[in-house]
Amino acid sequence: MAESLIAPGSVWLVGAGPGDPDLLTRKAERLVQSASIVFHDALVGSGVLDLIPPGVRRVAVGKRAGRHLCSQAAINRRLVDAALAGERVVRLKGGDPSIFGRSAEELAALAEHRIPVRVCPGITAASAAAAGAGLSLTRRGAARQLVFVTGHACAGEDFDLDWASLASARSTLAFYMGKSSAGRIACELIAAGLDEHLPVLIVENASLAGERRLWTRLGLMGLAAASLASEGPMILLIGEAMNGPDPADRRASASLRRESSLTAGC
Ligand code: SAH
Repeated sequence: MAESLIAPGSVWLVGAGPGDPDLLTRKAERLVQSASIVFHDALVGSGVLDLIPPGVRRVAVGKRAGRHLCSQAAINRRLVDAALAGERVVRLKGGDPSIFGRSAEELAALAEHRIPVRVCPGITAASAAAAGAGLSLTRRGAARQLVFVTGHACAGEDFDLDWASLASARSTLAFYMGKSSAGRIACELIAAGLDEHLPVLIVENASLAGERRLWTRLGLMGLAAASLASEGPMILLIGEAMNGPDPADRRASASLRRESSLTAGC
């Protein structure tokens, strides 16, 4: 039964998916219900947190841009301490724990103390964003590779990315954490050879009630991302496969191609 899923003194890193509790795996739900303590990120949806039974301790350890609640070292320490105290620990992370989730650091810290730890995968934001738009991240002929990229760069600092290799045609690029750098990312990709008319789908709050989608082209990606600027998480999906399957989307993309007065502003 659920109680036996987590041995006392052990830890599960659990993917909470993109926010909609219906996109949680059944295993993740059972793990959450068998924990004695749950450490969660700021990005974990409130509907998912509602599945934590009353009486189970929940600890917010989220890190959101500019508002660090807790350093990674402090999170590692808290996981280790809880496990050493004999708790049944769940570390709930937005999306999939293995994609920009710092799970490698947590796994290493737990291993250092010989604490048993396992990982339950989750649906990552790129999958949820494409699914919500009715699109496929890969497409025969048009998108033969899918690249998960971090768009995180501290203000004023260079990105640590190989733009030439990212700028290959027939790819879909999924930029996580790229909201505030969307314009810089577009300029780098165009400078590295990508067409400024390449379709882009920007999705904010994928799978949540406040989900918003915007189709644009690479040259306008910075402006488009800024126009959505709310508090929600945002993912940038770039590539030919993001040209909507629906004729209305195609017409929208075609009209964007004709907008010669608007430029990338690089
Ligand atoms: N492990 C997570 C990613 C964590 S990095 C995953 O697999 O999805 C945090 C970034 O993920 C955010 O800045 C945003 O780019 C993206 N993200 C997470 N949830 C999202 C959502 N519901 N909608 C859009 N983007 C999201």
